[in-house]
Amino acid sequence: MRPRLRIAWLALLLLASVALAARPRPHVLKRRNPTYAPLSDSSLDELVALTDLDATLDWTRPETTLAKLLVPRAVGSANLTRLQGMVEGHFRKLGWHVEKDTFDDSTPYGTKTFTNLVFTHDPSAPRRLVLSAHLDSKFFPTHPEDQFVGATDSAAPCAMLLDLATGLTPWLDRRKQRVEEGGGEEGREGQGESLQIIFFDGEEAFKDWTHSDSIYGARHLAHKWGSETDHSPQPVRATPRSPLRRISHLVLLDLLGAPNPLIRNFFPTTGWLFDEFLHAEERLGNAGHLWQGLEGEAYSARKGEVGAHERSFFVSRGGGGVSAYAGQIEDDHLPFLREGVPVVHLISVPFPKVWHTIKDNADALDLPTVKAWSLIVRLAVAEYLGLDPSAPIPNLNTPTEVKRDPRDLLSDEAG
Ligand SMILES: [Zn+2]
Repeated sequence: MRPRLRIAWLALLLLASVALAARPRPHVLKRRNPTYAPLSDSSLDELVALTDLDATLDWTRPETTLAKLLVPRAVGSANLTRLQGMVEGHFRKLGWHVEKDTFDDSTPYGTKTFTNLVFTHDPSAPRRLVLSAHLDSKFFPTHPEDQFVGATDSAAPCAMLLDLATGLTPWLDRRKQRVEEGGGEEGREGQGESLQIIFFDGEEAFKDWTHSDSIYGARHLAHKWGSETDHSPQPVRATPRSPLRRISHLVLLDLLGAPNPLIRNFFPTTGWLFDEFLHAEERLGNAGHLWQGLEGEAYSARKGEVGAHERSFFVSRGGGGVSAYAGQIEDDHLPFLREGVPVVHLISVPFPKVWHTIKDNADALDLPTVKAWSLIVRLAVAEYLGLDPSAPIPNLNTPTEVKRDPRDLLSDEAG
């Protein structure tokens, strides 16, 4: 991805957004999705223990997923093909539905073949919460830049998504079973939301970022899903006909894994969901689940440098609700956003200092930060989908409580 504006312009933009903030805006009330259910305290410990994070994410151990991802993996490379196979195998083993979106597109280096990987826990569910990242690393034609591994961009986010699937699959299975036992397809009307994980191909530009040389996979998938009509028998009346409309929210992870990220809210209509990630961080922190293992080998060498992790990853929405950077970051979410899909963009802004340099390697990562991200995302997704195994499935005929927050009374045109 790239920032669309230079820093000098951002100051100007900030002033402009302050001026805009004074204007009255159309009334749009946003709220939690119907499946949302807070996780009980007893289930929180169980959630954290669902996977051994070190076994997946400690890249100093060559057998971990993240270690395997830390190789150059530009579009069309043998490494990328091999890793796509690894990712696909991971989800097949977990029993998820696999969809491979393979297509050709022209690039500054001629026609290339791309493959988006789409995994769905329960493809019959009418709606999907999508978590996504790009698997490809940026192509550099000359040595030594051709050894670029994109540790934050986006090896670490991809490893987090693989861990998310491993961790939540047993809970997703149990919830599906409980929904079916509690009314089957009827129960799906309100509860029928599944987790979908997308690994985009061709996010990076081959040369300089332009509208045609960037986000190849996301552009293709959003267009395909926007124009497809699903004529198969629908599980419930309310199932949207277009695959794009079945996405309740798209959460995009990018440039994560370096210490002390700054995550901002870009879209007023999904501010409530941004807050859920922030609350997940708070709750995990208060329960002592973040920053364990600071004595670990991968961390100790950097401890003095990165500090004590006392600051939140998230920039609180404050009164205005939207970051001045809103709409200024080009990334895989854009083709979906333009089609009306609600988006949360978890990206560190400013970008990590190593961005698009050979230094975006293992040294740029901070293991406790990567582990914290995995737990934050795991908790937020578990609550979004109401996965708590000890909680009852809510009565679907009872209207869900509307969470009113004055900051949500904004339109997407703001900022
Ligand atoms: Zn990049």
